[in-house]
Amino acid sequence: MTEKCGVVGVSLDEREAVRPLYYALYALQHRGQESAGIVTHDGFQQHSHVEMGLVGDAFDEDDLARLAGSAGIGHVRYPTAGSVDKGCAQPFSVSFKSGSLGLSHNGNLVNADEIRDELAGFGHAFTSDGDTEVIAHDLARNLLEADLIRAVKRTMSRIHGSYALTICHDDTVLGVRDPRGNRPLCIGKLDDGYAIASESAAIDTLDGTLVRDVEPGELVVLEPDGSGFDSYQLVETEETAHCFFEHVYFARPDSVIDGHLVYEARRELGRRLWAESGVETDVVMPVPDSGRAFASGYAEAASETTAAGAPREEGQTGPEFAEGLMKNRYVGRTFIMPTQGERERAVRLKLNPIKSTVENKTVTLIDDSIVRGTTSTQLVDLLKDCGAKEVHLRIGAPPIVAPCYMGIDMATREELIASDKSVPEIAETIGADSVSYLSTNTVAEALETARDDLCLGCVTGEYPYDIEGEETDRNVTRPTIDSGIEADD
Ligand code: 5GP
Ligand code: MG
Repeated sequence: MTEKCGVVGVSLDEREAVRPLYYALYALQHRGQESAGIVTHDGFQQHSHVEMGLVGDAFDEDDLARLAGSAGIGHVRYPTAGSVDKGCAQPFSVSFKSGSLGLSHNGNLVNADEIRDELAGFGHAFTSDGDTEVIAHDLARNLLEADLIRAVKRTMSRIHGSYALTICHDDTVLGVRDPRGNRPLCIGKLDDGYAIASESAAIDTLDGTLVRDVEPGELVVLEPDGSGFDSYQLVETEETAHCFFEHVYFARPDSVIDGHLVYEARRELGRRLWAESGVETDVVMPVPDSGRAFASGYAEAASETTAAGAPREEGQTGPEFAEGLMKNRYVGRTFIMPTQGERERAVRLKLNPIKSTVENKTVTLIDDSIVRGTTSTQLVDLLKDCGAKEVHLRIGAPPIVAPCYMGIDMATREELIASDKSVPEIAETIGADSVSYLSTNTVAEALETARDDLCLGCVTGEYPYDIEGEETDRNVTRPTIDSGIEADD
């Protein structure tokens, strides 16, 4: 099961944590719409409310009033086809001999089954098939024998895969990022405390300031009185595996991830698209909302140089930038529609062209990515119906050729349009006059990150983790999970 989710944790001096958590979840809503939940701790006991649906629907005033305490964590969960199940909603909470534990997870473990089997053998009862519960039980078990820091370290030495976690151990809030930093996680300072969140936009929403990213392999422990935090580098890492797709699609453009403002990264990718594969058309048009920043960078670069790379002369302009597709903001994400027919219908519901912007014109349509090809096929068709003379498609990422095991529910290999087609074949299938993507090297350059420090699994088919039946692009092996806690330092 793969999950792309949003996590948050806050620890405040005296103020109740529930409101800031609730607002932060609103800020992270784009990372998950299936369920929302908050766990708080008031110094004596834990409180939890987890519900299916959007943040605005999941809590009413009474629910919020019951979530007492100045420490807590929250979670929004991404809808994955076929797994609409309250048992998987988070935060996951468990009480045990030495206290209570709440856990929010963004990411996906690739060895959860092994650990679940082992723990089940020791008598742990599991209520879901999710990997978050596996982390929670493993941590709870380790906490019986070791202090908090050593317990987290031992769990980190056993689990393999991607995880950005916020944890509430009694009224202590922790943040943990996997040793390769696959999913984002950052620390923010608030007036009266600290917060840990998937994205800095959540910190902004709380009028806080971004302190820094949680480092890959780092455990951050917030002081229960909100006065500061302690840091423990529990696993040393040489190479990171930051998900490039966070920058291309998932994260909010107003978030800063691993030192890069997402909006600027997308504009830079757009500029490079023009430099590498620009085509002189009458108009440039984004697919809203995901193509916007790319299209603005593309159009800006196109106003400076010609498609051949020469500087524009005085008075000579590039393609006109037009917001020619109107989006109905009330239609949910097309991606989760279970059948192809419904997905096609949903694209039509969601996007409508403004005829005058395309009629008798040559058009460049810009989007962040092509997954199945549904959106682009429908849009090219629509634009041509509206009288576009040519439609060229420019994509701000490489072709997606393989599934994501790291926390993004993409599609199976067979469903991915690029898994078995060349770029010209894709253009033909989609009905576009031309299609161009960016290369993985260009993406790495635009993100100012070494290629080896990115996870490019979905565009190369080689993963930075040891996944059964898949290739890896580096020297990684799964940990052996049976090392005893006494073996710890
Ligand atoms: P396609 O229609 O080709 O299957 O999907 C491409 C469109 O879906 C693009 O507009 C892109 O912004 C969006 N997209 C890419 N990845 C994801 C994803 O993981 N989830 C959702 N909801 N949309 C995605
Ligand atoms: Mg899109």
